[in-house]
Order: sequence, then C-alpha cells, then structure tokens
Amino acid sequence: MSDNVVMKVENLKMWFEQRTGVFSKPLYVRAVDGVSLSIRRGETLAVVGESGCGKTTLGKTLLRLYKPTDGHIYYNNKDITYLPEKKLRWYRKEAQMIYQDPFSSLNPFFTVYKILEEPLLIHGVKNAEERKEKIFKALEDVRLIPVSDFAFKYPHMLSGGQRQRVAIARALILDPKFVVADEPVSMLDASVRVEILLLLRELQKRYGIAFMYITHDIATVKYFSERMVVMYAGKIVELADTKTVVYNPLHPYTKALIEAIPDPDPANRFRERNVPPGEPPNLINPPPGCRFHPRCPYAKEECKIKEPPIKEVEPGHFVACWLY
Ligand code: SF4
Repeated sequence: MSDNVVMKVENLKMWFEQRTGVFSKPLYVRAVDGVSLSIRRGETLAVVGESGCGKTTLGKTLLRLYKPTDGHIYYNNKDITYLPEKKLRWYRKEAQMIYQDPFSSLNPFFTVYKILEEPLLIHGVKNAEERKEKIFKALEDVRLIPVSDFAFKYPHMLSGGQRQRVAIARALILDPKFVVADEPVSMLDASVRVEILLLLRELQKRYGIAFMYITHDIATVKYFSERMVVMYAGKIVELADTKTVVYNPLHPYTKALIEAIPDPDPANRFRERNVPPGEPPNLINPPPGCRFHPRCPYAKEECKIKEPPIKEVEPGHFVACWLY
C-alpha cells in the first residue's frame, strides 16, 4: 500500500441477515458486495448512486460501525477489518462521520458547548481549559462567530446550516484524518449548500483530511471531489477522476445518471429525476450476470449470464461492463 493512501478496501462485503421465520433459512441483503477502492491522503472520493445502492453502508463499514462479512479494510496500512471494539478506540478518534440530517444528529438537550465537549471527554481530554480552547477553536473553524454566543445555544435555536456547522465541528474536533460525509448538504437550502461544501473543502485543505463524500448530487461532486466512484446494487461500476466520469462516462448506468436532467426546482431531491428508468434489483436475490442488465439498453446475451469484472480501460479509469 502506497504511503499516499490512507484507506484501502479489498473485496469488501457487508451482507445483512434477514430472517422470515424462526426455522426459516436466513436470507442475506447484499448491501455491499465485493467493493475494492483506495482513498489518498487529503483527497475527496465521491460515492454516487441511487438510494439503496449501498453507498451509506459502505461508508459506515469503513468506519467499522458494522463488522464486515468478508474482505479487508486497511487504514494507514493497518488491517482493521475484524478488530474488536476495544481495539478500535484509536480508530474512533481518527475516523469520523458527518450525517445527513443536522436536525436529528445533535442532542436537543445539550448546548453546543456540551455537544462538542462530549467527544473530548470520551477520548480522555481531562483538562477543562484545554477542552474549552479546542471547542472555541472548532467553532471559529466552522465560522460560528462570536463563539461565546454560539457555544451556549441549544440546537433548536440554530438554523439548519448552523446546525450542520456544529455537526462538522463535532466531527473534526478530534483531528480526524478520514471523514465520511453522508449527504452532508442534502437537507439544507440550496443557498447554504455551497457555503457548507466550501467550508468542508477549506477545512480539508487546512487539516489534510481525506473525505468520502456520499451523495446523489452529481452537480456538487464536480466541485468537491478529485475522484469519484459510481455504485450500483452493492458494486462499483465505474471509478475515475471526477472530471473524467462527469465529462466522459463509459458505463451505461453512469451515462444515464449524468445525462438525466436534474429537477430545476432545488427544493426537489436530485435523485428523484436523476435515475434511469426501471427499478434497481432486489439485493437479496440480485439477477445473474451484470446487475444492471434488466435496465440496460445495451444488454447482450452475455450480460445476462456473466458478471463483468472491473477493468482499467484507460489509466486510472475503471469500468465494469462487457462493452469495454
Ligand atoms: Fe449493460 Fe452489459 Fe454493460 Fe451491464 S455489462 S452495463 S448489461 S452492456
């Protein structure tokens, strides 16, 4: 693993058991089904795809919020795939998550100060003065100024954008080097979205953080990520630098995502329009061959039988499709 890589994932699987009755055979939802990728230090890797394609599960599995079914996760060359919780304490500090919903991710009974103090206490910052310094600096970083005003407010006293700034401060207060940002701006007004993404970008550069940016919104991917992964039904179908995927998509699913016209009304979710026709497959019993074949206008007989491997079709551009 190159020194430039902070996170490496090999053939990662995260299947969830689903039982229909006490004596029935378990079924498995294959939310992530054989994903390999790497994330470099200080870069943003965007993960896009429809709802239910496994992108949030992938992010949570990398954070070891789930115990993977198979495969490997290496963080800074260390295999963390199956480490028990008590041996993951250091990783809980290094790797953080920013959630989609700033309304439910903050404890409504805590002041902003207490929300930011909690992770510091959990990770053993015993000196109250040191905690205060870190909390005020974090609030300054996310531009909740004057900090002494914001520190003692409760979440309900803040706007959506301000709450998401608190969530960002909480995620970054322990100086992580890897952050999963799961649709961090999708619940905010269009006018605030760009501000928050620019803030994340600025903090990323200042502190050298690697981001996994999970989103439906390809428009923001262009401004916020260096490389991009497109997921379909638990698998990666295309991976390349962001400009290549956006301006020269090769996989039929990626083409459909890029070509579809986003809804002009920013209040509507991008995903509702930005998908090809048809339904994604059932992840308990995915179709044989290429998982996209029931919706693909280019499907050949071969596609229904054999699963296409992911291939490097030009330097740094990987595609899983029999057309290449
Ligand atoms: Fe379409 Fe076949 Fe390519 Fe799958 S492998 S995307 S079905 S052409």
